[in-house]
Amino acid sequence: QYRARSAFKLCEIDERYKLLHPGQVVVECGASPGAWTQVAVEAVNSLPKDEKQNQGLVIGVDLLTIHPLPGATLMGGRDFTLPKTQQLILDVLQGRKIDVVLSDMAPNATGSKYLDHDSIITLAYSALRFALQHSNKGAIFLCKIWDGQKSEQFIKDMRRFYNIVKEVKPPASRSDSTEKFVLGKNFYGLDER
Ligand code: SAM
Repeated sequence: QYRARSAFKLCEIDERYKLLHPGQVVVECGASPGAWTQVAVEAVNSLPKDEKQNQGLVIGVDLLTIHPLPGATLMGGRDFTLPKTQQLILDVLQGRKIDVVLSDMAPNATGSKYLDHDSIITLAYSALRFALQHSNKGAIFLCKIWDGQKSEQFIKDMRRFYNIVKEVKPPASRSDSTEKFVLGKNFYGLDER
């Protein structure tokens, strides 16, 4: 009983690449209606459901309203790209660093392939910049893009900061869409470059 079918994309990616574990701190950009959030809450044990495992933290942000979900700190009606929103996330973190940044953010599509690609890449860079500034060494970054001419540069930029970078197309992602996910594993840390 996930809030949206998009949950299966994250489940499939997680199953294959083993990203989410109990105790992790997760920041999710573009979280509404909250299906990925449901997956994350369960996987990092942020409720906590299992008292014997480490308790994680899940923070979700979206332009749209997000209905409350036990185990998650949700910020609806907020633009992730604004410094004010990012400060609110840092306030919740209280000095803790992030283990996983997830971005399923997508702009409202205009139908112009180039424009839409350009907009989603801008969102992706915003999520990446935040991840680089606030993640733990070894952290994970997973981000949705719509493929286009700027994808290659984005992936190249990610490779400077993550030891392993992969392009992922989960089975639940429609094969006729240009949607794909870029996964960065094992963040070097900003000082280690
Ligand atoms: N992962 C979500 C789930 O499983 O429920 C679905 C996310 S949906 C595909 C993309 C979301 O990105 C939309 O809800 C949209 O409002 C959000 N979004 C787009 N631009 C945003 C921005 N600048 N800040 C925050 N959220 C944004």
